[in-house]
Amino acid sequence: MPVSGLPPYDPANIFARILRGEIPCRKVHEDAFALAFHDIAPQAPIHVLVIPKGPYCSFADFSAQASAEEIAGFFRAVGQVARDLGLEAPGYRMLANMGAHGGQEVPHFHVHLFGGQALGPMLAV
Ligand code: AMP
Repeated sequence: MPVSGLPPYDPANIFARILRGEIPCRKVHEDAFALAFHDIAPQAPIHVLVIPKGPYCSFADFSAQASAEEIAGFFRAVGQVARDLGLEAPGYRMLANMGAHGGQEVPHFHVHLFGGQALGPMLAV
C-alpha cells in the first residue's frame, strides 16, 4: 500500500527496470537490500545512485513502509558504497529528492552520492 495521498508504485519506472535487469547500469555495489550504480548524467566527478531493492516510490514511502531490516540494510549499503568509492576521507554529499518540490524525477526511492571535488553551497535556488 502506498503512503496516503501519494501515487502507487509504478513498476515500469526506469529503476525498477534496472533492478529487473531489463536495462543496463554501471553497477558499483549490490547486496540483498540495495543496488548502487553510476548516474547516467553525472553532476559531480563521482555521482552514484543507491536504490533499495523493494518497490518504494520515495523516501516518504520507504520510511513509512519498509521493514527495519530493509531500512538498516539500505543505509548500511549507502555507507559501504561511500567507503568503497573512497569518499569518506575527502567528504561527500548525500541527497534524496522527494516529490514535486524536491525535483524527484524517478519514482523509485534513491539516494544520490556526490563527490570527487569540493561541492560548494548546498542549494542553488
Ligand atoms: P531524481 O531527480 O532524484 O529523481 O534523480 C534521478 C536521477 O536518475 C537523475 O540524476 C538521472 O540522471 C538519473 N538517471 C535516469 N535514468 C538513469 C539510468 N538509466 N541510469 C542511471 N541513472 C539514471
